[in-house]
Amino acid sequence: MGLKILTEHINVPGIETLEVYRKHGGYKSVEKAVKTMTPEEVVEEVKTSGLRGRGGAGFPTGMKWSFLAKPEGVPRYLVCNADESEPGTFKDRWFMERNPHALIEGMITSSYALGANTSYIYIRGELMFILRILEKAIAEAYAAGLLGKNILGSGYDLDLHVAPGGGAYICGEETALLESLEGKRGNPRNKPPFPAVKGLFASPTVVNNVETIASVPWIVNNTGAEYAKVGIGRSTGTKLISASGNINNPGVFEIELGVPVEEFIYSDEYCGGIWKGKQLKAVVPGGSSVPILPANLILKTTAGEGRLMSYESLSDGGFVSGSMMGSGAFIVFDEDQCIVRNTWNYSRFYHHESCGQCSPCREGTGWMEKVLHRIEYGHGHQQDIDLLVSVAKQIEGNTICPLGDAAAWPVAAAIRHFRDEFEWHIKYPKEATAPGAVYRGQLD
Ligand code: NAD
Ligand code: SF4
Repeated sequence: MGLKILTEHINVPGIETLEVYRKHGGYKSVEKAVKTMTPEEVVEEVKTSGLRGRGGAGFPTGMKWSFLAKPEGVPRYLVCNADESEPGTFKDRWFMERNPHALIEGMITSSYALGANTSYIYIRGELMFILRILEKAIAEAYAAGLLGKNILGSGYDLDLHVAPGGGAYICGEETALLESLEGKRGNPRNKPPFPAVKGLFASPTVVNNVETIASVPWIVNNTGAEYAKVGIGRSTGTKLISASGNINNPGVFEIELGVPVEEFIYSDEYCGGIWKGKQLKAVVPGGSSVPILPANLILKTTAGEGRLMSYESLSDGGFVSGSMMGSGAFIVFDEDQCIVRNTWNYSRFYHHESCGQCSPCREGTGWMEKVLHRIEYGHGHQQDIDLLVSVAKQIEGNTICPLGDAAAWPVAAAIRHFRDEFEWHIKYPKEATAPGAVYRGQLD
């Protein structure tokens, strides 16, 4: 059992209440920060910890915090991105539902570090029941003097609000989120300027993921140097992984970064092996927007080394033979899964969720969905495969926000690693469209 920084008390009965949460050491980081540390000292600890953004991009949190502009007389904001919507990702909702005070504690300590006096948790609109859980916990924190004016007699003031989104995936993109929070349609903005300079209501804003913010109390309590000792290389600390697909134990696991991928898939502590003892076909290691890897490449790097659950190891080999840690949504496919159908399914999602601002994304996602649909349903042409690659290439890097890349990468990677499966669908449409049919030529 590895170190549990985020989940040590998650199964304690009543941990969602302030009383039980405090009995287990809750809100110590707030006391320590507001009474004994300067905001700059808190930022320094987070920098030292090496903590990286847990929403998917893995950007160093301390660095993001230090980029926050501080013009005189202008408010600063901390916004928690709780709009988790990436297919396969369900760690933040799992965490907030069970331990809301852990997020609130992180929000207070982080807001203090950033000099924010008003902060927001922007939560996915579909999660209204979690919004209520958070609101109840926030009310308890206000009543205990942990929020509001003069927190714990320190002179520091903070108001914390929870705002629901309207159910659009794109509002998880940080600038679309800010637009939505301002009451507008959630269209992504061009970056730069980054939110750290011009964010919510045109003021300097830090947008951090739920898990990132919830990691801050441990860092403040135990020091950044202790956090940096956990994990491997530049992948410090622990990470919540939402594991799904054809495995024996789907669910959320807190891992120390650096656990071997093979151990993560087959050990009973985590995924417990492939469902019904079948063979592993492929894994999408970081949410639907990252490249799929066939079994041989998810278990080993091209140098033949066993791959690790870390930012560096999962991306080793670039997009030729690697993928990304992303949001930590680990989706496992067994030998009976059809890659073409799965790729079409992802494509349908991204086409539906495109905000339509830029033509490569608006048109390209539609084209990819249509072409994949016809291949899957037995009406494809051999040139469709190269057409898909070409459309994906024209989207990649040519859009305002990363949704374009997120739509293009899974298609390009599926063709790169499973081209013969696409060819089989086109060459043998009758066989490929028979109920339960699946190509079995490329199992590793
Ligand atoms: P990004 O790399 O553009 O930015 C990461 C963060 O660093 C942002 O907050 C950005 O403002 C900040 N940043 C980067 N450079 C900066 C600079 N020079 N100055 C100040 N701040 C700077 O990535 P992103 O668009 O925030 O996120 C993309 C990732 O989101 C994808 O990789 C995907 O894995 C993930 N994602 C997650 C979900 C989910 O549900 N968790 C959904 C969709 C996508
Ligand atoms: Fe909208 Fe897609 Fe452009 Fe992002 S890439 S701004 S989702 S059209």
